[in-house]
Amino acid sequence: MHDLNLTFIGSGNAFSPAGLCCNGFLVNDRVLFDAPPQALSSLNTVGAEINEIDAVVISHHHGDHFLGLPFLLLHWKWKGRTKPVQIVGPRGTEVLGKDIVEKVFPGSLRDIGYDLEWIDAKPGSPLILREGFEIEPYPMVHDPELSMCLGYKTRVGATTFSYTGDSVMCDSVLDLTKGVDLMVSECASRADRIPVHMNLVDDMPVVRRNLASTSPLILTHIAAGVDTNGMANTYVAEDFKRFSF
Ligand SMILES: [Zn+2]
Repeated sequence: MHDLNLTFIGSGNAFSPAGLCCNGFLVNDRVLFDAPPQALSSLNTVGAEINEIDAVVISHHHGDHFLGLPFLLLHWKWKGRTKPVQIVGPRGTEVLGKDIVEKVFPGSLRDIGYDLEWIDAKPGSPLILREGFEIEPYPMVHDPELSMCLGYKTRVGATTFSYTGDSVMCDSVLDLTKGVDLMVSECASRADRIPVHMNLVDDMPVVRRNLASTSPLILTHIAAGVDTNGMANTYVAEDFKRFSF
């Protein structure tokens, strides 16, 4: 693997167990996967260059993955952004995102000094971001009341990694283990069987077994008590931790 850096701006699930920030991570300092409510605060904590982020890739519209977007748009309008940005997400991301930001920070989308492009991600339709990331969306099984829940397989240069977003164990989770140099998987509990999520003791051994043994597995969207459970080449995300591979 070559030069893949992941900086976690949060590692917890929606309940912020033990005070963990909600899950999201920045790849190579340029592409943010998910926008948790505290995204702006966390990006400042890790010293990210917020106006240099080229794209935000949203997995689904649950608040712990999405509600940081208004703060990013507020920052970009008022803190001198000039560089274009792309926001990628499931069907409805543009309508919902604009609606929320205009209600909570009115005017954040008016007279902005940068190009803002909203992109619908659809399974079966790979995308190439301006930054060069090649993104392939996968349909995940999580909350049928949302427009869609997505996972992503992403190629950056010669390296490919995948991210499950939120999901139960399903065919797409297994697809996301194939042909990747690194996988980031949700793991919302240790042993509790939450109907819309995966856990450490039942599901992660399946993920680990299907993933190449040489490919690291990073567990995120965690609850207190999630550890590596003795699995090889497996890591647990931590708030503000940077992984380099
Ligand atoms: Zn969710």
